[in-house]
Amino acid sequence: MNKTVTIIPGDGIGPEVTAATLRVLRTAGAALEFDEQVAGLAGLERCKDPLPVETMESIRRNQVCLKGPLTTPIGTGFRSLNVTIRKEFELFANIRPALTLMKGGRYEDIDLVLIRENTEGLYVGVEHFIGLGGDPRAAAESVMIITRHGSERIVRNAFAYARANGRKKVTLAHKANILKCTQGLFLDVGREVAREYDGEIEFEDRIIDATAMQLVVNPYQFDVLVMENMFGDILSDLMAGLVGGLGLAPAANIGAREAVFEAVHGSAPDIAGRGIANPGSLILAAAMLLDHVGQMDVAARIRRALRLTLEVPANRTGDLGGTANTKDFTDALLRNL
Ligand code: NAD
Repeated sequence: MNKTVTIIPGDGIGPEVTAATLRVLRTAGAALEFDEQVAGLAGLERCKDPLPVETMESIRRNQVCLKGPLTTPIGTGFRSLNVTIRKEFELFANIRPALTLMKGGRYEDIDLVLIRENTEGLYVGVEHFIGLGGDPRAAAESVMIITRHGSERIVRNAFAYARANGRKKVTLAHKANILKCTQGLFLDVGREVAREYDGEIEFEDRIIDATAMQLVVNPYQFDVLVMENMFGDILSDLMAGLVGGLGLAPAANIGAREAVFEAVHGSAPDIAGRGIANPGSLILAAAMLLDHVGQMDVAARIRRALRLTLEVPANRTGDLGGTANTKDFTDALLRNL
């Protein structure tokens, strides 16, 4: 039976890369039905709401969503639509693989996964200005919230991911040497959880700045990495840079019930409507979605076809140094399928 998933094409290049992704899913034989919804600027236009109730209900009903990039309209009361979606569905785990699909980059054969805590840390947005001597913005203060519960469930998720995917090692990156309470708690909980996997999955902890440097110097020493929200945000982009940039970087946001799959990049307003966006990230996000709903064979077929497509320089889009447009790229991918 086909699985119904919510599709949100999104804003900017979103509809272009979503259309390409749907062509790929159909040709690859994915057993999916698509329940198309709007959000972002498109939601504001059609429903006067950047996160329409019908869209949220659709995600809740289908529990699986493929989402294009959203532009948060200014003055609508939302700090970020993406953060709001993550909060609404408690999508606590942000899974960001960095996999080499195109040869000739800085490194060959990178295969890393970063698991980022998605709901806590500085991104809870508890911050304010402090006025002093007539300057209303003389200082600013932000609160980093780390809980035992939040730390435990993300580290557990990292080990569960490692076990399910035959991975050998989990590295927990932190700054517990300076931030003794918040980062110290995260590290302590991580060590406790790691003990349960003793002898099965190797565990190490590292200071975040040294981890950043080592990722650039020798990424092969890592396997699965787990960290709190902001560190994960930064290092996952660094890892995307190791394998070709934002055009080949997918992400999954996983909660206890719902899961939202997306490209890491934004709506790219500078190239929107020109038909030149690289749909690779959203196609890879769709492959993660297929893994999630148990259609691993279709996902593997899509990744293989993507790899074959990228082998030919003439198929590469501008962000990858080529001249192909979205349609050329997608047509080549469909032929390889
Ligand atoms: P961006 O990722 O949209 O663009 C950064 C640069 O990368 C641009 O030059 C763009 O042309 C290029 N680029 C991005 N994706 C590409 C692709 N698939 N193919 C080729 N080139 C690509 O980041 P930004 O400009 O900082 O943000 C634009 C908007 O997107 C903002 O409104 C932001 O809030 C939103 N955004 C949304 C998400 C999301 O929905 N997950 C993520 C990031 C940013």
